[in-house]
Amino acid sequence: MPLFIISLPALMEKIKINDKTFAPYLRNNRIQAEIQRLASEINERHRGKKIAFLPVLSGSFLFFADLVKHIELDFEVHFVKYKSYIGTDTTGKVQKLLSPPANLNNRVAVIVEDIVDTGNTLKSIIPDVENAQPDELNICTLLLKPEKYDAFYPVNFIGFEIENDFVVGYGLDYDEAGRGLQHIYKLSNN
Ligand code: 5GP
Repeated sequence: MPLFIISLPALMEKIKINDKTFAPYLRNNRIQAEIQRLASEINERHRGKKIAFLPVLSGSFLFFADLVKHIELDFEVHFVKYKSYIGTDTTGKVQKLLSPPANLNNRVAVIVEDIVDTGNTLKSIIPDVENAQPDELNICTLLLKPEKYDAFYPVNFIGFEIENDFVVGYGLDYDEAGRGLQHIYKLSNN
């Protein structure tokens, strides 16, 4: 007689990473629902076109992997790496560690971010991608902090608009820790 084990969703509790405490914020099932919506929006908008996805490492790796499972278009993947955060603060200076390809002709370039905060990282990436002359350039992000983003460039596909809290989990780190958490947590004062 086979034994069926019914796994109940793990209760979300506060967690500690190094010196800081984080409270539950977005459950994985909510994240997955928004990712399906984002993928449908991309599919509808770019039906028949070829996409060059530019996922920004490292934070977007889980989001991107889940997003492309629902993409029905022809696509290429070119990971890029730009880094601005140390700990829970932006340094304001963006280091370019992995650049986009030199030529993106005949493709729609879609930059895939885990989170858009001040937009400083996008300010470095966008000119590099524009130099590669794609047919069109779009931005897709799982999370956006609208109060901090100066909206210098439209963000076309947005998963969640969030407050100015520092968040971890589902690819996002606190000093390289916490990326593997399946839910997203926000910094808590206690
Ligand atoms: P921006 O350049 O827009 O200020 O920030 C973009 C990058 O900073 C993101 O790709 C991410 O790596 C990092 N970042 C911004 N806000 C947060 C946050 O709340 N949590 C984490 N873990 N990283 C963040």
